[in-house]
Amino acid sequence: MSKILVFGHQNPDTDAFASAIGFSYLAKQKFKLNTEAVALGQPNEETKYALDFFKIDSPRVIKSAASENVDTVILTDHNEFQQSISDIKELTIWGVVDHHRIANFATTDPVFFRAEPVGSSSSIVGRMFKENQIEIPKRIAGILVSAIISDTLLFKSPTTHPSDRTIAQYLAKIAGVDLEVYGLELLKAGVNLASKSENELLSLDAKTFPLNGQNVRVAQINTVNIAEILTRQNALEKAMKSESEQNGYSDFILMITDILNSNSEILVVGENQSKAEAAFNVKLQDNRTFLKGVVSRKKQIIPQLTEAFE
Ligand code: ZN
Ligand code: ZN
Repeated sequence: MSKILVFGHQNPDTDAFASAIGFSYLAKQKFKLNTEAVALGQPNEETKYALDFFKIDSPRVIKSAASENVDTVILTDHNEFQQSISDIKELTIWGVVDHHRIANFATTDPVFFRAEPVGSSSSIVGRMFKENQIEIPKRIAGILVSAIISDTLLFKSPTTHPSDRTIAQYLAKIAGVDLEVYGLELLKAGVNLASKSENELLSLDAKTFPLNGQNVRVAQINTVNIAEILTRQNALEKAMKSESEQNGYSDFILMITDILNSNSEILVVGENQSKAEAAFNVKLQDNRTFLKGVVSRKKQIIPQLTEAFE
């Protein structure tokens, strides 16, 4: 049977890796598929911490399916084509497991599709193991629980669903970790930012959204000290502008999120600053503003921007 590649979105976060690793294993057991979990980018510091902690080899990074001689893929933690592999339009999509909005997605053949509005794709994968009574290896439970902690910011994000905590507790037990203790260590591992260049900071967790004909880039940096990141505001703005020019983004919004107090400062450059102001009912000062209680791009940034752009 020919190989099927399983991967999360570009600029992968811990959930992109974990959901691909978890679902690849599950698909072998349940659907007897010949799967391999791969990635569309290198793991970030947080993901590296989790992979090391549970002694998992980092999945290979691939550029296109054609270069792998593969024509069938499974998408996890995303479905929008512009967030996927470069040759997605040429490929057969066997299935999708996701927790984002459904957009820019179409197939010619019937497809396995599981999307739920929960905190993490890994939460869905974890429950699929239970539903199908498939035993979860310790390392898989470990990487899945890491992704749930990461996506929900240890259950503080408004994207958190009650089922996330339930399945995370179950997975943590199998993985042999204490949720709170391991969770804080994991989140802290991801905020070691001082050594990173502006371009690296901007690509840690960035996605592009087509909004009413405009291409809006929204990046997020998690930190325990917003002020420390803002000392680099000028250099960050310069990098945001040059990335926009190179890639045709009309706007670039950077969320700097305080993971301990659950707030964000947003930095906005581009053609539609007034739309961003309307979206959040704020006035930007020096291209930025503080958004109290905002930590989720998916729930507290993108829907508001979508409305303002329409
Ligand atoms: Zn993700
Ligand atoms: Zn996710």
